[in-house]
Amino acid sequence: MSDATADPRDPSETAPPAAEAGAYRRPRTAAAVAAAVLFAAVAVVIAVTTPWNPLPGSVPGGHVRPDPAPDFSPAEIHRAAAFDHALNWPAYLRLVTALVVVLGLGFSPLGARLLGRLTARTRRWPLRVLVGTVVLTSLTWLVSMPFAAWGESILRDYGLSTQSWTGWFTDQLKSLGVTWVTYAIALLLLVGLIRRFPRYWWTGAAAGACVLVVAASFAYPVMVEPVFNKFHSLPAGKLRTDLLDMARRDGVPVSDVLVADASRRTTSLNAYVSGFGSTRRIVVYDTLLTSMSTPRIESIVAHELGHAKNDDVLHGTLIGALGAAGGVCLLYLLLTSPRLLRRAGMSAPAARRPGREEAARDPSVRNRGAADPRALALTLALIALATQVEGPVQNLVSRHIEARADAHALNLTRDPMTFATMQHELSVRNISTLTPDAVETQLWSDHPTGPERIAMARDWARMHHVAEPPPLVHH
Ligand SMILES: [Zn+2]
Repeated sequence: MSDATADPRDPSETAPPAAEAGAYRRPRTAAAVAAAVLFAAVAVVIAVTTPWNPLPGSVPGGHVRPDPAPDFSPAEIHRAAAFDHALNWPAYLRLVTALVVVLGLGFSPLGARLLGRLTARTRRWPLRVLVGTVVLTSLTWLVSMPFAAWGESILRDYGLSTQSWTGWFTDQLKSLGVTWVTYAIALLLLVGLIRRFPRYWWTGAAAGACVLVVAASFAYPVMVEPVFNKFHSLPAGKLRTDLLDMARRDGVPVSDVLVADASRRTTSLNAYVSGFGSTRRIVVYDTLLTSMSTPRIESIVAHELGHAKNDDVLHGTLIGALGAAGGVCLLYLLLTSPRLLRRAGMSAPAARRPGREEAARDPSVRNRGAADPRALALTLALIALATQVEGPVQNLVSRHIEARADAHALNLTRDPMTFATMQHELSVRNISTLTPDAVETQLWSDHPTGPERIAMARDWARMHHVAEPPPLVHH
């Protein structure tokens, strides 16, 4: 039986805990210092490189206050608020339910017990890690599913979704598959390191986390995006020529603009940049091409060129890599805490890697602390908690980087009127929240709001003595 800690004769219960705590004193101190240094580095990099003032310079007559009223009709404002209100329910309930399940399994013995039972007959640890990964991620996926379907039904009510339920469910399954693969790679490497280097795995894991974050961001456009969408080059013609000309003028080496077949899923409008180096790509939704005027599409692509020119994806990836390394050091401190392990139904970690003879005598010695694949429930709970904490920071930085790309678009096109009407159309077509509350902003807002973006167009016009976009709605 591999369920070691359920055995009351488990030597970890009787061994003096002092010896083990002693073995971990030095590596834990080192990991704590490394975590502090890495998080401080993240904070400094964020503080120094985030464009806190995306449109530098003084605005004659002062900054324009973001306000939906002059630019959105009462019907548009009402519709956006109603949509936001409707979507909030499934979104918050989904978040809370998933967290309750993941944290409940990880911070109590329930998760370890579940995994122990499911892998009782599985001897090889990699297989136990795979089973644990698949079971825990699928369980989270499963409890989220009703709320995801609820959200999708609201998108449908508002005419944003063009998918059949079969198509939608296939997408959900594909997402789960992507989660399985990414978590399986990361967790197999992690548990492998923990088993091989019980006291110093955090050094290798921190370096590995950096590499994995960079590799994932690089590979994402060519390995993950094609799972969900088909892409083709923007066909030859005036639009393509204009966009590539604009990129050349801007000094951004862009050889192609890709079109995603988003219309098979949504009516919403979007464009984005992903990848870096040889995988970098500018993608526009096909919905954009069929419904927007050429000048507005140019304004959008000018924003994307801003991301490309500033290497925003690479920059964000490097911050993410640094943060992931810090996160791993913190994870080590928590996964070697006897108190937390006990709470999760796990034994204390081994003081050193058990020798072959020792393991032959008692196979359970290889499964101490987080070396035991059953500890994955606790590991995933800690990862979920970390993701929840870093989300608002990431959104805060993202909103400023997006505002800088907006400023770039205004500088490149020098056409605040087109920019403002384009932002209005984006907000209305995507039914974007015009005035999110503080919690929504923290949790979900990675872009400035439509009214904020239109206000920036007016600021830009004032600064450059160009005609300021008039109110877009005539009351
Ligand atoms: Zn952007």
